[in-house]
Amino acid sequence: MADQLTPLEIMTKLISFPTVSSETNLPLVDWVEGYLARHGITAHRWVDPDQPHKAAVFAHVGPDVEGAVVLSGHTDVVPIEGQPWDSDPFTVVERDGKYFGRGTCDMKGFDALAIWALVAAHHRGVARPLQLALSFDEEVGCTGAPPMIVAMQDVLPKGSCVIVGEPSVMRPVTGHKGGIGYSTHLVGFEVHSSLMHTGVSAIMQGARLIDWANARNAENMAKTPDDVAALFTPPFTTCHVGMINGGTAHNITAKDCRFVMDFRVVPGESAAEWEAAYLAKVRDIEAEMQALHPDTRIDVSKKFNVPGLVPEVEGEAETLVRALTGDNGTHVVSYGTEAGQFQEAGYSAVICGPGDIAQAHQPNEYIEVSQFNAGHRFMQQLIDRLAI
Ligand SMILES: [Zn+2]
Repeated sequence: MADQLTPLEIMTKLISFPTVSSETNLPLVDWVEGYLARHGITAHRWVDPDQPHKAAVFAHVGPDVEGAVVLSGHTDVVPIEGQPWDSDPFTVVERDGKYFGRGTCDMKGFDALAIWALVAAHHRGVARPLQLALSFDEEVGCTGAPPMIVAMQDVLPKGSCVIVGEPSVMRPVTGHKGGIGYSTHLVGFEVHSSLMHTGVSAIMQGARLIDWANARNAENMAKTPDDVAALFTPPFTTCHVGMINGGTAHNITAKDCRFVMDFRVVPGESAAEWEAAYLAKVRDIEAEMQALHPDTRIDVSKKFNVPGLVPEVEGEAETLVRALTGDNGTHVVSYGTEAGQFQEAGYSAVICGPGDIAQAHQPNEYIEVSQFNAGHRFMQQLIDRLAI
């Protein structure tokens, strides 16, 4: 039998691949496939046809039946450019009870524990199957997981509950808001601003869409939140424009105005309804612009769509993680994850992973050794449970 690496050895290996979201992750995927193969586990990859330098990798161990527990992580990490690191970001360094390195916390630490668990479960033998699912492009809008989930369901017996190991300090997190964003490009009609009544300013029309968002925020803030919304800060859906550009000079009506309108939707409200409301407003304003000049328009395209994680009633994933961690508290987070995508695809889903999100994406990113060890114990207990 091939040598079984420790979780730390696996994490060290994973971190040595600089899988920043803009770069290839294939060397990491090759390594995972090879390592699992040496242990007699067949892994499968899904290569993104639009960017064939990226792939998801997944595998199944245990009986060839449905109902697996799925351990889910992403292989990409955020860039290091412009960050002052005290050591090489792609080499794990242990210091002061912490493992430093890009992705130690978010989330190659968990990925390593999941790979370790898969191999351990395979050698021990389990009564209930365990699956590994490692995606890509999580950090650029969670776009890699949905096709991976489809591919997994094609190739493997369907799993029933998913543990998404984003850093939660090993607490079960059962809800987060959804995030949906729309690139919005208004095309106006340029004239000298002294004759602005004959032109259409893309900026001033864009401002009306932004003011629509202001009005929705005020309305949402005034509403009494329901029980689920009340868990979040703030306890309502928010509409936001974080960046805008357009125009060429102060005395020319702007031909172009571009911004991203994003919505953070509380679980329980429908992202589709927010989309419909925004698009209806866009079409109203576009019609008014075109009444002023026909060569104007508003182009809208979806930039990202990360469904919310809806707290489940007596959810299987949550029940399992509560039993393993002994944590019966109610936790929600403000960041988006792939958990909502699994949930939409019919899995019970929960977030639970080692490390604190506060350390993610930072220079000198680290995971506490104690957190990593807690993650290891969690995996050992999970295997004990699956073995019965
Ligand atoms: Zn992450």
